[in-house]
Amino acid sequence: MQNVRERLELFVKKCKEIGLKITPQRLAVYEVLLKSPNHPTVEEIYEEVKKMYPYVSLATVYRTLETLERIGLVRRVCFWGNSARYDANTSEHHHLICERCGKIEDIELDDRISVPPELKGFKTESYSVNVYGLCPDCRSNLPS
Ligand code: ZN
Ligand code: MN
Repeated sequence: MQNVRERLELFVKKCKEIGLKITPQRLAVYEVLLKSPNHPTVEEIYEEVKKMYPYVSLATVYRTLETLERIGLVRRVCFWGNSARYDANTSEHHHLICERCGKIEDIELDDRISVPPELKGFKTESYSVNVYGLCPDCRSNLPS
């Protein structure tokens, strides 16, 4: 992953292109996400940003994440029964998800799935694999 500063500069450039005002709060949302390897929720990002900008609103954090996603700087990791989690790592990678505590870690998989350029009328763009299981912490805390 490129360094945080370069990624922030790219964000500023893209904001200018689409005519979005660059505010310190918006930059802080992206910076928090860039520095967070654990795929935080909107609320977790909001709590971090609030430490620097106490008057930031949850709505601003939401909207900023939506914009970042739309311009391709952020992706959402979705899985059932949980709130959306955000990822500033947009390179192709997959996820290991703990079904008990919700921890999400990046993984690389050796076996590449061959996805055709078109499927059922969809023009395919990317794919992502979620592997579910129990993380080491949860495994060691299982009642015997
Ligand atoms: Zn766990
Ligand atoms: Mn990830």
